[in-house]
Amino acid sequence: MSYIDNIIAVIERRDAGQPEFLQAAKEVLDSLRIITDQDSVYEKAGLLERLIEPERAIVFRVPWIDDAGKVQVNRGFRVQFSSAIGPYKGGLRFHPSVNLSIIKFLGFEQIFKNSLTGLPIGGGKGGSDFDPKGKSDNEVMRFCQSFMTELYRHIGPDTDVPAGDIGVGGREIGFMYGQYKRIVNAFEGVLTGKGIGWGGSLARTEATGYGLVYIVDEYLKVNGDGFKGKKVAISGSGNVAIFAAEKAYALGATVVSMTDSNGFVYHKEGINLETIKDIKLLNRERLSKYAEVHKDSVYTDAAKGRVWDIACDIALPCATQNELLLEDAKNLAANGCKIVAEGANMPTSMDATEYLLSKGIAFFPGKAANAGGVATSALEMSQNSARLSWSFEEVDAKLKNIMAGIFQSIDSASKEYGKPGNFMVGANIAGFKKVAKAMLDQGVI
Ligand code: GLU
Repeated sequence: MSYIDNIIAVIERRDAGQPEFLQAAKEVLDSLRIITDQDSVYEKAGLLERLIEPERAIVFRVPWIDDAGKVQVNRGFRVQFSSAIGPYKGGLRFHPSVNLSIIKFLGFEQIFKNSLTGLPIGGGKGGSDFDPKGKSDNEVMRFCQSFMTELYRHIGPDTDVPAGDIGVGGREIGFMYGQYKRIVNAFEGVLTGKGIGWGGSLARTEATGYGLVYIVDEYLKVNGDGFKGKKVAISGSGNVAIFAAEKAYALGATVVSMTDSNGFVYHKEGINLETIKDIKLLNRERLSKYAEVHKDSVYTDAAKGRVWDIACDIALPCATQNELLLEDAKNLAANGCKIVAEGANMPTSMDATEYLLSKGIAFFPGKAANAGGVATSALEMSQNSARLSWSFEEVDAKLKNIMAGIFQSIDSASKEYGKPGNFMVGANIAGFKKVAKAMLDQGVI
């Protein structure tokens, strides 16, 4: 058995109940065959055995009291996967689906994503099965305070710096930061995605969505093309989706769809972003409201149709894991889609990815395409350490450079290892090499 097959057998046995983690880890390990078959240094150093095991995984009780006075208990997680190239860095997800498998898959992906940014950040992820949907602000605050009352002892500006993810935005970061500061009595850069005026970075909110469009634009430019006149289908309607749409419009494209967990809207004339921002960011309402405001748009219930049936040039899945499946990939290809770039983490299933690649569709994996968010978090950390704040333009220019750099590194890795245009393999290899070198330099730890 090859080294990689041995490692896959280990995780299949030891992490058998963790399907999302297995999916993410197998995708990366498969891409690394080309490297580990050529050079035995990794096997001799037991490097992959170490890489697939988190440095630490913390699971904790989060008790809080709801508005009716009833005690509620959720489960909290922080998986500190790799500190090889910097302090653990990655978001917190609050969603009822959260479990150890999901946090491990996200933490594992984060190692390579953070490495690709070129910035000194390790990989981690956390969250809870708490559902902020339908909760009052006070309930969310009590939950966040309780969550941080345990988490604070495991994090720190040079140890582990969490941020947002699904279900964790500016409101939640604010409540958690307030509680952290109160406990440790220090105003320090322990979380990113903070508010402007108390340590947050301009352009952090926009960064993931903007970065997604920047990397695709870089690819289009290299091929003598651009966003102008392109039809873009987007899933999701959160931070990533909204700001990807904003940048796509700014570059001359038309965005024809958005989704939430209940269904999707198709608006041929172009999704109105002000309406989406009001519905989703301001009022925290359901997307079906959009079709009540824009009568020429069509809302379809999730049980009755798929957003990926819509014809488009570029598809940007920005909702959640495994939302673009094999049938969807077939429909996208049949309808002329040329580019799929992941704004979410692992939205495309493995068989769908393989199908897209086999059809010559340019596929940008999340660990490269959505890295703009965490990269700008690292810029927030730099500003906090220097006690400075940079202008929006300054941060945005750095973000654009970082995304162009990521494109170049995944493109050249794909060529160097004989898979030109396969950005999945390119991203896995380029992300891995930097982390592997750091691990080899630092000895068996
Ligand atoms: N949750 C985001 C991600 O998946 C951002 C993480 C961060 O800024 O630390 O990369």
